[in-house]
Amino acid sequence: MQKYPLENYDERSKPIDGIVLHCCAFSAKEAIKSFEEAGVSAHYIIDLNGKIIKLVDVDKRAWHAGKSFWKNQESLNNNTIGIEVCNLSLGQTPYDKRQIFSLVRLCKFLMKKYHISKKNIVGHSDIAPSRKADPGKCFPWAYLARHCIGLWYDDKTKTDIQAQNQAELLSRIGYDVSNLMAAKWAFCRHYLGELVPDDKDVKHLIDNPNPSDFTVADEVFLPVLKAVAEKY
Ligand SMILES: [Zn+2]
Repeated sequence: MQKYPLENYDERSKPIDGIVLHCCAFSAKEAIKSFEEAGVSAHYIIDLNGKIIKLVDVDKRAWHAGKSFWKNQESLNNNTIGIEVCNLSLGQTPYDKRQIFSLVRLCKFLMKKYHISKKNIVGHSDIAPSRKADPGKCFPWAYLARHCIGLWYDDKTKTDIQAQNQAELLSRIGYDVSNLMAAKWAFCRHYLGELVPDDKDVKHLIDNPNPSDFTVADEVFLPVLKAVAEKY
C-alpha cells in the first residue's frame, strides 16, 4: 500500500457512503503538523493555493469527525471520507477560487468512484453542531450544489410557513437535535451564512462554536428550513 503523510488511521467498520467537509485555520503544512500532534487526520487537505494533498488512504478510517451524528448514524468516521480545506479565518472569509475548483474536482471523483449520493455531503458543523464551527459561514455550499455536490433549496419553495416543529424538520434533514439551538446554528451556517455574525477571534470560535446570543427571525429561518427539508 502506498504510504501517505499521516499515520492516524485504522480500519473502517462500514462501507463509504458520504463525505464530510472541514476547514482548518492553517496552511496545509502547519495543519499536517498539528494533526500529527493531536492524533487526528483527514483523507485529503486542499492547501491555500488549491493544491490537493492526500493524507490517508481512502479505504482506511481517518480520524476527522469525532463524536458525530447524521441521519441516525453515529461515529461518521466509519463511513465517510474527510476533506479539509485551508482557510485562515475558519471559513468566515471567502475561499480561494482555486480551492473551490479543486474541491469540486475531488468531490466529483470520489462521488463517482464510491457511489456517494449528493445528499450525503455534509459539513463538520452539521454532524457535530455542539462542538464544531467548520467549514464556516462562507463555505460555498450553493455553488457546490450547482455542481451536484450536496443539496441546496429551490427559491420557489421558500413559502411562508407557520412556526412549527423545528426539531422535526432539522431531524428530517439529518441533524442531531438533542441540542436544538446548536443544530439551528449549524443549519444557519450552512444555508444562511450571510446572517451569521463574524467572530474575529478564530481561537475563540473554535472553542465556542455556538454563541448563546444567536437569534434569527422566524420569518427568515422557517421558510428556508422548510425548503431544505423538502429536499430530504
Ligand atoms: Zn472539522
